[in-house]
Amino acid sequence: MSTWFAGRHAVVIGAGIGGLSAAAALAGHFSKVVVVERDKLPPGAAARPGVPQGKHPHGLLAGGMAALSKLFPGLASSLTQAGALVSDAGADALIEVPGLQPFPRRHLDVHTFLMSRPLIEAVLRNRLAEHENVMLRDSTRVMEIVARPSGDVAGVRVESPEGEQEVLAADLVVDASGRGVPTLDFLKAAGRPVPQESVVGVDLTYGTATYSFPPDATPDFKVALTLAKAPERSRCGFMMMREGGFWYVLFAGRGEDRPPVDEEAFLAFAQGLDTPTIYDTLRKGRRHGEILRFGFQESRWRHFERLESLPAGLLPIGDAICRLNPVYGQGMAVAALEALQLRDLLDAQGSDSGSLATLAPRFLGGAVPLIETAWKMAELADLVYPETRGEKPADFQKTLEMQVVLNRLAIQDADVQKLMVEVRHLLKPATALHDPEIQRKAEALREHAPS
Ligand SMILES: Cc1cc2nc3c(=O)[nH]c(=O)nc-3n(C[C@H](O)[C@H](O)[C@H](O)COP(=O)(O)OP(=O)(O)OC[C@H]3O[C@@H](n4cnc5c(N)ncnc54)[C@H](O)[C@@H]3O)c2cc1C
Repeated sequence: MSTWFAGRHAVVIGAGIGGLSAAAALAGHFSKVVVVERDKLPPGAAARPGVPQGKHPHGLLAGGMAALSKLFPGLASSLTQAGALVSDAGADALIEVPGLQPFPRRHLDVHTFLMSRPLIEAVLRNRLAEHENVMLRDSTRVMEIVARPSGDVAGVRVESPEGEQEVLAADLVVDASGRGVPTLDFLKAAGRPVPQESVVGVDLTYGTATYSFPPDATPDFKVALTLAKAPERSRCGFMMMREGGFWYVLFAGRGEDRPPVDEEAFLAFAQGLDTPTIYDTLRKGRRHGEILRFGFQESRWRHFERLESLPAGLLPIGDAICRLNPVYGQGMAVAALEALQLRDLLDAQGSDSGSLATLAPRFLGGAVPLIETAWKMAELADLVYPETRGEKPADFQKTLEMQVVLNRLAIQDADVQKLMVEVRHLLKPATALHDPEIQRKAEALREHAPS
């Protein structure tokens, strides 16, 4: 059943992937939805200062694409018309894991869309404009969330570049600001507790360049990933085709192993990967523009769901709840899955004011398993490194060993490879790998060919 909060207004802070998805989720349920964005939004696909990470590759997991397609029906054709490329997560991807032969390039029928982050945003903005009751208000910064005398949310105070301020009244404020500063400031100002946090410190540095290749040297893959032999080494490399005939080339290292920003040193860094694939490919290509760096210190999960209560009308989403280590490419997918969950909750609930007051706790509780799946996958890979800051879960060693066996099994067994890819892409829960038949095959492999 669809509900309609007639006469009710919602404000979304931030027009990133979380904010645009949330606005699509709210569009069918509120009379008016205003997305407030501090940046001047470009008319097309262009980088902008509010999302500095947007100049770095953003792989969209298939589970994220599935969620976005429910929020924006027909999104696949909107993206391809705008220049995105479709890739099979098995056949078109060259995945190199040290100590293993590369994963067979099998067709797995798990499709991903390859494009830049600015292109995804531009397409989502265009699609959102189809909703007459949704307004994108750019060049406007949210200064604070405003409270009613009861302490619940009354709206947001915004400021234009000229310094003019006004209050936008709202029954629901969705904080999709990435850092979540408006929500934390609001809780602190009200003397309320802030959420407990889980933190995994990774001290990661990204270095990204853009390349093109002549027709006779175009790589035979659309995505390549060279992983490091952990825990001795952390340096990994990633290549991804994108719109306009360009390729992203990304290196990431932990601690002192930072990708350099001049071309010669960047290529030398590529030679230090565990396989020569990316270096050999780059030698035939041409670099465009600067090499850009990005530092990412820690994944951070704010447990809003553990708070006894939240002021009614406040709902954080996306990175404002959980910022995940970007190397696993999960953030946009988690934000989109959360927004879809928000829409499903609104579809299922009644339209009285009481149901709006309980929306955030139900949303936050429901988001936990979504976030946990992504968090656990990232945490397992990060905590292999002794320098990583964070607490190892009790079953860490056992899960890690199982992961190694499953990787070996996936090379031999197409069904296991497909299932592992589906889990990694957040299409299926991690528990799908607990299937007794898969566990039996893994056990047999462990006994016959111990690592
Ligand atoms: C280097 C890097 C690489 C990444 N790579 C990937 C990847 O490959 N795949 C993937 O899925 N995810 C990736 N991510 C994560 C991804 O960027 C986010 O998880 C995802 O976009 C969801 O973020 P969000 O919409 O919640 O916040 P953001 O994308 O940060 O957007 C927040 C928006 O809010 C606006 N804003 C903030 N404060 C205010 C305010 N006070 N008033 C008005 N507007 C405001 C900002 O300008 C911005 O537009 C990467 C992240 C980083 C750092």
